[in-house]
Amino acid sequence: MSGGDGTIFARRGIPGVINAAGTLTRLSSGPLAPGVAEAMREADAAAVEMEALQAHASGVIAAATGAEAGLVTAGAAAGLLLAAAACLAGLDVARMNALPKAGRRNRIIVARGHRNGYDHALRAAGARLVEVGLPEPAAGAGCRDTEACDYAAAITGRTAGILYVSTPDAAPPLAAVVAVARAQRIPVIVDAAAELPPQSNLGAFIAAGADLVVFSGGKVIGGPAGSGILCGRADLVMSAALQGLDADVAWGDWTPAPGFIDKTRLKGLPRQGIGRACKTGKHEVIGLLVALEHFIAEGDAARHARWLARCEAVMAGLAPSRAALHIRNASATDRIPVLELRLADAGAAAGLARALRARPVPVHLARDPAAPDCLLVNPVALRETEVAPLIAALLSG
Ligand SMILES: *Cc1c(COP(=O)(O)O)cnc(C)c1O
Repeated sequence: MSGGDGTIFARRGIPGVINAAGTLTRLSSGPLAPGVAEAMREADAAAVEMEALQAHASGVIAAATGAEAGLVTAGAAAGLLLAAAACLAGLDVARMNALPKAGRRNRIIVARGHRNGYDHALRAAGARLVEVGLPEPAAGAGCRDTEACDYAAAITGRTAGILYVSTPDAAPPLAAVVAVARAQRIPVIVDAAAELPPQSNLGAFIAAGADLVVFSGGKVIGGPAGSGILCGRADLVMSAALQGLDADVAWGDWTPAPGFIDKTRLKGLPRQGIGRACKTGKHEVIGLLVALEHFIAEGDAARHARWLARCEAVMAGLAPSRAALHIRNASATDRIPVLELRLADAGAAAGLARALRARPVPVHLARDPAAPDCLLVNPVALRETEVAPLIAALLSG
């Protein structure tokens, strides 16, 4: 069964695809980790209080990340929205109910070089983004990127938080931003959606002093596509939880899970909040937790070996082709190995990518803006059954 016939999509007349491009949302993300689909089905067999389920999830996520608390969200972007909502409203119920009207203290500072489409999620919660710094290397016009002092200069009484988008070479270092933020008691939100592997990153940003960190559940963790993790300071996670829950209950009857939501710190119960529009159900929460536990149990080395074997299988099958083949990160067990096909030039690579997408069962490969003459086979979302059809497509392309 490949991306073609026999699938539930084929039976409905929906064209399938072969995804060698990675866990892209538009290509329906990657496969679920072993046991996740079964756990989601099992979760279907009984009812549960979502607060109790999220309180349990908080413990699992805290143990995995070193954070005080955690929440399963409807993806990393949902986590960013809830993180912003927590920074804007804190534990003030009236402020929660008013979002996305956030009042005066509504600014979230972000380095210009960290801006990306996902930061719309913070604006959706009511934040106004304030850009700082200059990514001069990106402009080819200097050697300095944003510096910690740029953040310091931008902090005012209207600042609700700082957004830091993590990549392996993000500038300035997170620790420097945290030092500036701590001095002024401003929370730092880290978007680490795609920063796994290495597995050690589950705890690295919390250890570096981030107040809130988001991870995608639908990327290498292997959870449902619509799942993610928000973890960090207990009071901020509590605020995020309150703004995502559906606690349609009288104050006197409300007995939230102790240790997760502290009722004594609240003046009332917020209504369905800004996060209610990106709700998570029990299936996603259980699915994410089982995926996270599997992710931790498997470990970087075994995961890398599994991905590398898939790259090597494709590489072996492509021996007759004229493309120059090379596996990136073949020995970097804390990275994702990818098979690189180097073509004559950027035009040849773009042409082959187009031809592959135009096949009866479209084939999607990854691209690297820094190497436009290359196509990349990313093994993370590639099913074993798709290896042979992928090879055949590449050989005929
Ligand atoms: C993928 C990604 C997101 C969104 O993650 P979802 O779980 O799909 O919502 C956000 N930020 C960055 C940097 C990402 O790479």
